[in-house]
Formats: sequence, C-alpha cells, structure tokens
Amino acid sequence: MAKRSLAERLNDGTVIVAEGYLFELERRGYLQAGSFVPEVSLENPEVLKSVYRDFMYAGSDVVLAFTYNAHREKMRIIGKEDQLEPLNRQAIRLAKEVAAEHPNEEALVAGNISNTNIFDPEDPQSKEDVRMMFREMIGWCKEEGVDFIAGETFYYHEEAMIALEEILAADLPAAIMLAMMGENQMRDGYSVEESCKILEDAGALVVGMNCFRGPATMQPYIEKIAKTVKGHLGALPVPYRTTEEHPTFFNLPDEGCTCCIPTETTFPTSLDPLYVNRYEIAEWAKEAKAAGVNYIGLCCGASPAMIRSVTEAVGLEAINSRYSPDMQKHFLFGSDDTLKQHNQAYRGKA
Ligand SMILES: [Zn+2]
Repeated sequence: MAKRSLAERLNDGTVIVAEGYLFELERRGYLQAGSFVPEVSLENPEVLKSVYRDFMYAGSDVVLAFTYNAHREKMRIIGKEDQLEPLNRQAIRLAKEVAAEHPNEEALVAGNISNTNIFDPEDPQSKEDVRMMFREMIGWCKEEGVDFIAGETFYYHEEAMIALEEILAADLPAAIMLAMMGENQMRDGYSVEESCKILEDAGALVVGMNCFRGPATMQPYIEKIAKTVKGHLGALPVPYRTTEEHPTFFNLPDEGCTCCIPTETTFPTSLDPLYVNRYEIAEWAKEAKAAGVNYIGLCCGASPAMIRSVTEAVGLEAINSRYSPDMQKHFLFGSDDTLKQHNQAYRGKA
C-alpha cells in the first residue's frame, strides 16, 4: 500500500499518535529525570528504536522523532550545544528506519518542536530567540524528510503561533497541540478554544491539546475546542487520574504514599500509583472520538498497552492486537472446559 499523507489519513478516519518518549525512556533507565534531554538518540540508538517500534506496533500511525527538549536552550544548560544538530538528525533518521518497518502501511514520521521555556510575552528578544530555535530544528526536519511537524506542549498561545509560522514557512503540514496549566487557560490569557481557532485559521492542519492533563481534565476542553474549530482535532492526554481540584500532573497528590519523596510533588518521578488503567483510557478514547477527535494518542506516562487500548477503542487494530487481553484460558478467569474447577471456585478469593 502506498503511504498516505497525514491529511489523507485524517480525511479517511482516525490517526493514532503515540507520544511519551521522555517518561518511557526515563522509566527504562536511559534518560535522566531533571534535565530531561533526549541524548538517547546518540547514546543508545537501539533503545530509542525499540521504543519507537513498541509504540508503532501498539497502533501508532506516526513515529514521532524524539527531539522533545532537544533545542538550543536545553543543550546549552547541559553544556552540549555541539551535539544539538547530530542529536536532532539522528532522532529523525531512527524514526524513519522504524516507520519503514511497518508491515501494512509505512508509518508517518513527524518532526517535533515544543515549548522552549524561555518564551516571555514581555520580552521581544525572547520571541526572536524562540523563532530561531524553531527555525533551525524545522530546517533539519525538512532536510531529513519528515512528513509533518508536531508542534506541541505550548502553554503560551503566542509561542504556538511562532511555531506554526515557522512550520508553514518551511512548507510542512503542522499539528499544533496546546498544554494548559492549572489556571485553565493559556498563560497569555487566551482560552484554549480561542487559541485553537486562531491557529486553525492561520493554517494548522490539526489543532488540539497534549500533555499536562489526564483524560478527565482534558476532555471538557476538547469538547469546547470541537465546537469552535472546523478541521481536524487532536487530543493526547497523560494517562493519570487528574481531577478538577488537581487538573494537571504537576500537582497530583498520592494519598497512599508512605515515604518522603525528593520533590515537593509526585511529578515527575513518583506518579506511578496515579495511573488511569487501560480500560479507563479506552472509555475516554471513545468519548474523544465521539467529540470529533481524529488525531488521538497519549503523552507522558503512556505505555504500549495503553496506546493499543486507544487504538482498539476507536475501532482500529494494532499490529500487536493479537496479544490483546483474552482471559478465556486463564486459570482463574477462563471459560475453557479443561481448566481446573478448584481454581475457578477460588476466583475472587485469591
Ligand atoms: Zn507529555
């Protein structure tokens, strides 16, 4: 099958987009929490390829090049500015290698730019610096031949606009995702639906939200955006139990924690007990699809099994769907006649 573009796939149906490389590689032990710089593409390329592959096999139609935080400012902080370009190019090349392995239809490869954390609405120079950081990363994406750019986790509308302008200037399709902090609006005062509308009118192919919020506290805003925009809508929450009181994963308490943790909050290294489960994720994915979301996935904290739940919940099959849960032959829960009855009787008491 010939490889369809992102626009073609969105017009045909739902596109699955697995994200969350930062947390997943930290969890596997190949990335340092704190600075959170994706040096893994240069230091352990096989590990990164394996995570790309795991997410693609779980249903992702897109292999997102892991260049989150691989911008000039972060590389400066860790004293490795000289590795900036090789790191970006390598992350994209590895993504392309894995995308080509897809057995049905070659996956799309997305370049990735994101919140810079140096954007200051009051400081014109910061805006110019942000633009230059985006421009150089998009330039490498263009040269390496990505299919589109995912610009994401922007909590300033204006920073998202700069990203969009630079992506469009490079003549690439843009998916722009916004991330809202606890004040439930963009930090420069725009509502998220207002920001999405402006981004769509300015030429973004997909607009929506990613990161920071779990399904419960992202979905209400997705529904507001759905009423405001006409085109393709994206949603990639984090798989955690965020609440109205604690709408983001930055301030999520863990009532069950029995020890002192080194950070004031469970974010970013103690969130494990606060996951939503894969069935809750599936319920959310159905709601999101019903609200009009057709660019769907998960962000920080996602596992391949969770991504597969999203894939199947929206009516698609993953390469690894043949390993999806089936309890028929399970010693406690199964219905197979040859299973031992004394175990079955033990169900619920084990
Ligand atoms: Zn995230």
